[in-house]
Amino acid sequence: MALREMALDQMNGGSFDVLVVGGGINGAVSAAVLAGRGASVALVDRGDFGGFTSQESSNLVWGGFKYLEGYEFFLVRKLCVSRNRLIKAYPDNIKPIGFLATLDKTSPFPPWLAALGSLAYWAIGSFRTHWPRYLSAKKIESIEPVVDTSGARGGIEYYDAYLPDNDSRFVFSFIRSAMDVGATAANYVELVGAERTDHGWRATLRDVANGGAEITCQARVIVNAAGPFVDALNEDLGPRTSHRIVYSKGIHLVVPRLTEHERVLAFFDDTGRLFYVIPMGRRSVIGTTDTRVDSPYTEATDEDRDFLLAQINARLDLDTPLSPADVIADRSGVRPLVVKREGGDQTDVDWTKLSRKHEVEVDGGRRVITLFGGKLTDCLNIGEEVAEAVEDLGVPLEDDTGGWYGEPAPATRAEFYRQARLMKLDDLRHKPQVEPLSDRLWRRYGRRAFQMLDAIRNDPAMGEDIMKSADYLRVELHLAARTEMVTKLEDFLRRRSKITQVIPEEEVRTSEGLREVAEILFADRADEKLIEYFGELPAGP
Ligand SMILES: Cc1cc2nc3c(=O)[nH]c(=O)nc-3n(C[C@H](O)[C@H](O)[C@H](O)COP(=O)(O)OP(=O)(O)OC[C@H]3O[C@@H](n4cnc5c(N)ncnc54)[C@H](O)[C@@H]3O)c2cc1C
Repeated sequence: MALREMALDQMNGGSFDVLVVGGGINGAVSAAVLAGRGASVALVDRGDFGGFTSQESSNLVWGGFKYLEGYEFFLVRKLCVSRNRLIKAYPDNIKPIGFLATLDKTSPFPPWLAALGSLAYWAIGSFRTHWPRYLSAKKIESIEPVVDTSGARGGIEYYDAYLPDNDSRFVFSFIRSAMDVGATAANYVELVGAERTDHGWRATLRDVANGGAEITCQARVIVNAAGPFVDALNEDLGPRTSHRIVYSKGIHLVVPRLTEHERVLAFFDDTGRLFYVIPMGRRSVIGTTDTRVDSPYTEATDEDRDFLLAQINARLDLDTPLSPADVIADRSGVRPLVVKREGGDQTDVDWTKLSRKHEVEVDGGRRVITLFGGKLTDCLNIGEEVAEAVEDLGVPLEDDTGGWYGEPAPATRAEFYRQARLMKLDDLRHKPQVEPLSDRLWRRYGRRAFQMLDAIRNDPAMGEDIMKSADYLRVELHLAARTEMVTKLEDFLRRRSKITQVIPEEEVRTSEGLREVAEILFADRADEKLIEYFGELPAGP
């Protein structure tokens, strides 16, 4: 039976300690910690895992240097500690990266003050990153010629970290590790109703991918991890909370790579707000914006695009300025920001200055835990707080040994690289501009990458690139089909991989190998899934 059918089968009539609603970063990390510490856990998301806010981030794992502007020292310290833990636990998936900030006449700070700030930031982060440095305009010009330094007063370089793959794949890694230790998780399953019982809840779940069939399961506790929808869900579940969510929209534009160096370029835009150029493989990502909105459903408008393009063109020395035609993909989402329920509608505050903190609220009577706000960077803290809250509600957990997060041990990694070297895995790579295969497979799959080595040894065709336009081996598709719950083609193209973020849609549609990808993932439903995604059967090359 396929992974998703098996999960639905287990959920139907099942009884769990905890039902997690929402498979973004907050829900994923909750499932991982709870299952890792011995609780029986079910998780549902009405879309794909990591398919809402958590796929629209800047992919940065950071303490938030810019939050020092709002004197949020405690939050920055907490995020820096979390960043440091994540860098240590995920040496291949979370990479330290330099941020080169160029300051011009319109910047709110002179470079010397920014340099002092970067020293303070380094100290707040316990000096765990590379040390920051002050840069003259001349120095910036020499190390990053793409930056237009004609109006620059100088700059700084400080360090944080980023996800070289993508945010939603990182989210999925928590879902996968929860499933590895017994959690039952299903995408495209919506919580549509919940009734109180003597021992907790009876939840009604709808399979939205396949005709809307309904099933029920029981849970002692519900974790509301619905991100921008937490308040709406709580209206149904009934807990009283002292916080609520407001929305701040942010967009990013993915464009051809703007600098060959693996560093983030930071600038102040005309409104005095920081924005970035962030590496994403062979592309650069420009963003983000920060606009108050009233709906969680957003898209990048022409106005948003024009604003970001104008800002970046004014700050880079490009032979041809970027135009909308250069935009390969865009990303748009809302930050779910936490505010006090009492205390006005917050219309009087500067929206961009609202705190990025999170709150975990527990309604012991109703046995609901609500997760407000948060960040990818904050995920370990949120996981630990959820576990504590679940224990407080009487669900016993095993001791926290930290085994629920992180990459496999260095000895396991060394053994993978040894085996990959012996079978000359990296020689299978034909595209010189992409990273070594051993790095890619280990980073993306961890322990599961051993199965791939076996499969390639048994059948060399498994080591061939499957899609002409993207870097994916045939064996990766087979593993994804078995273990990554790819329910729609978009789950693979946008979230398990980042293909549609870095390759123009037309190229994907006409890519050699696309049909085989669909056949491996969906067998006899391949045509249906291709039509679902493209609106018609792609003609192919
Ligand atoms: C533009 C932007 C840039 C950002 N950049 C960064 C960054 O660089 N670094 C960082 O650390 N953070 C960043 N963040 C913040 C971070 O991305 C978010 O805080 C985080 O992804 C929110 O995760 P979540 O799990 O709370 O919500 P979501 O990811 O939205 O997950 C909630 C899930 O609940 C599901 N759901 C809702 N209702 C139901 C229901 N009834 N039944 C089943 N499922 C349901 C939804 O389908 C959704 O998938 C950024 C955010 C934005 C918008």
